[in-house]
Amino acid sequence: MKKIGILGSTGSIGKNTLKVIQNHPEQFRILYLTANRQVELLIEQARIFQPEAVCIVVKTKYQQLCEGLANTNIHCLTGGDNILDLIRDSDADIILNAIVGSAGMQSTIVAVQKGTDVALSNKESLVMAGELINNICSETGAKIFPVDSEHSAVWQCLAGESPEDVERIILTGSGGPFLRRDLATFGTITREEALRHPNWSMGNKITIDSATMFNKGLELIEAYHLFHLDESKIDILIHPESIIHSMVQFQDGSVKAQLGVPDMKVPIQYALSYPQHISNDWPRLDLAKIGTLHFEEPNPTRFPSLRIAREVLRAGGTYPAVFNMANECAVERFLEGKISFPEISEEVEKALEAHKTLNPCSLDDLLNISNCSKKIF
Ligand code: MG
Repeated sequence: MKKIGILGSTGSIGKNTLKVIQNHPEQFRILYLTANRQVELLIEQARIFQPEAVCIVVKTKYQQLCEGLANTNIHCLTGGDNILDLIRDSDADIILNAIVGSAGMQSTIVAVQKGTDVALSNKESLVMAGELINNICSETGAKIFPVDSEHSAVWQCLAGESPEDVERIILTGSGGPFLRRDLATFGTITREEALRHPNWSMGNKITIDSATMFNKGLELIEAYHLFHLDESKIDILIHPESIIHSMVQFQDGSVKAQLGVPDMKVPIQYALSYPQHISNDWPRLDLAKIGTLHFEEPNPTRFPSLRIAREVLRAGGTYPAVFNMANECAVERFLEGKISFPEISEEVEKALEAHKTLNPCSLDDLLNISNCSKKIF
């Protein structure tokens, strides 16, 4: 039985992870659950799954958490530091990191420092600290298993293959809700329009990132660190149906793709059950019903985020961290109605222009960028 720690259990990925585990109670046991602020749901989850400990980040919710679990043996904690202690002190076989944004970076680092494998949904960990995390993994033997559907697809295509045979990888992306929208009207895009993703049901941050395609930019950097391929060998391809989750092209011209219905439970389950594909009764892919799949090159004017992502990846150092943090801040401001949709990428470019990179960079440098960014960007 695998012992699992789940970080961010009340978000979209966290909830799907619990559905995966509920399906296979004989294979998985939850050691702890953590959440940012959704205390009622955390209490409900803890009552069902009976972990040893739970942690709520927002301290004003702590009393409610303790009261909600008063007649149980579940240990209640609060604050981000206690999440790091939980990771250090427990003997989880694998940690699923579904914390949203840069707040999840340190948890990944602490887990791999301890030598614990991480099922990683928090792509920002690798975007900001990919080099650092890879170095720690090679020292401790910890592994990163991608939960991101594109990276899970590439990982599955690479099973049994030699790294030197890979010519390029092709990350697919739906293009989001504004693939066909008139560019002249981008200035009037509303919060509600941007939050309506055509295929995937996800949290607010990643849904906006999908609309701007910053998500694909982050995924390009994530792929670079996961699969150790030069940026020029990672292509982005628009595929509106989100059926092919990504592909690998080999040096003999052969291309392998991984397909499936767009359902995050599948890559989550694979990251937890690897190297096995264990059974479930979720909907199956029906290609005859879908009929046609479409592909196109991303338009650089519509999606400047992809060009910026390639630039920061080539520049290295602290640029990818600033790229991520400036985007996090800009998305927050867009959701608050303070800036327009096109201003998201403009603000990121401004932040990058003003930044002087540190290369190499330490964990302290990255934490500094992440902690100070609300004041800077
Ligand atoms: Mg993805």
